[in-house]
Amino acid sequence: MTAIHWQQAKDKLQQLATQPHFGLFSDLDGTLAPIAPTPEEAAITPGNRQRLADLAELLPVVGLISGRRAASLQAKVDLPGLVYIGNHGLEQWLGGQVVGLPQAAAYRAALQQAHAEIEAILPPGAIAEDKGLTLSIHYRHVQDPREFVLTRGVHIQNIAQQHGLTLFTGKMVLEVRPPVQVDKGTAFYELVREHKLSAALFLGDDISDLSALETARTLRAEGVEAYGVGVRSEDAPAEITEQADYWAADVADVEELLAFVLMARRASST
Ligand SMILES: [Mg+2]
Repeated sequence: MTAIHWQQAKDKLQQLATQPHFGLFSDLDGTLAPIAPTPEEAAITPGNRQRLADLAELLPVVGLISGRRAASLQAKVDLPGLVYIGNHGLEQWLGGQVVGLPQAAAYRAALQQAHAEIEAILPPGAIAEDKGLTLSIHYRHVQDPREFVLTRGVHIQNIAQQHGLTLFTGKMVLEVRPPVQVDKGTAFYELVREHKLSAALFLGDDISDLSALETARTLRAEGVEAYGVGVRSEDAPAEITEQADYWAADVADVEELLAFVLMARRASST
């Protein structure tokens, strides 16, 4: 399966956006916010932020599903009325505080142990970020990222396994996580069911978003009109546009897509 550009699916997107029980869900980094040298420097574009604010007033639910900590995700976007799911579905920003899944919190000590051991073998340029329920190792700035994955990556995987944890790979990042069957796909699925949606759209750009793109197909098989948009970027995995239903060229193209969805929704609600 190969995705088509969203502009070629305007009829379909318009039809989704005008359904009363339509929800919009998106990743943040690389999708609504350009990739920055460090996660701290990343910022949602003013255009995407404004469109989310407008859509939140017109749709039953607008949600962000990110690998970031829920508190960081909320702080980066800082809009009321949005659902903020962090740590790939392991935690949520609810009523001004972070609520984590208890089955993941049980691995906190193991994660801290693994963190200390991983820290000891990291070369200059690599950063281990403690995300509470998970650990992210950013290696964008090491001398040879490919060599880093092939050598240190294996060590990191061994350390994770020794502590009963699992390793996931993303764009210039390795993620150590508790062995809990939660990902962006299950988070997307839960939100669609919780809000009793008949239509939904998910946008993402990275390997961790593939589970949500796959969930869109699962939901369709169950009668929900759910579709996935893959956002292309320089180091985006090829699977993104293979697994997605539609693709967008970059963060600026996502602004165009959200503007279109907003326009269609407004036209139907007046
Ligand atoms: Mg992303």
